[in-house]
Amino acid sequence: MEYDREDAERNQDALWSFANLPVDIQEALSKKMAEVSSLEEFISSVMVGDCPKCGSEKTCDEDDLKELGDILKGICLACGHIFCVDCGGEYPCTCWEEKYSEGD
Ligand SMILES: [Zn+2]
Ligand SMILES: [Zn+2]
Repeated sequence: MEYDREDAERNQDALWSFANLPVDIQEALSKKMAEVSSLEEFISSVMVGDCPKCGSEKTCDEDDLKELGDILKGICLACGHIFCVDCGGEYPCTCWEEKYSEGD
């Protein structure tokens, strides 16, 4: 959809605490939103399950936003909570420790 800054900000205000999110995530979200035709499409294309903190289904997988995103990292668009898609724990959790302790 046409990226209209005012429109996008209104939608974001209505849906989630956009300002709570890290700046790189905000930029990735804005970019992703410009690629879809509706906010609903955006949410359904990126959602990874309910937020373990607030229960919102408006979550997304960072991997959908950034090519280098962490596949285990989920982001709640409602409260800004960053969580583990795997165990539902708060990021960073033991899943990351296991994942990144190997090799490196
Ligand atoms: Zn949440
Ligand atoms: Zn985990």
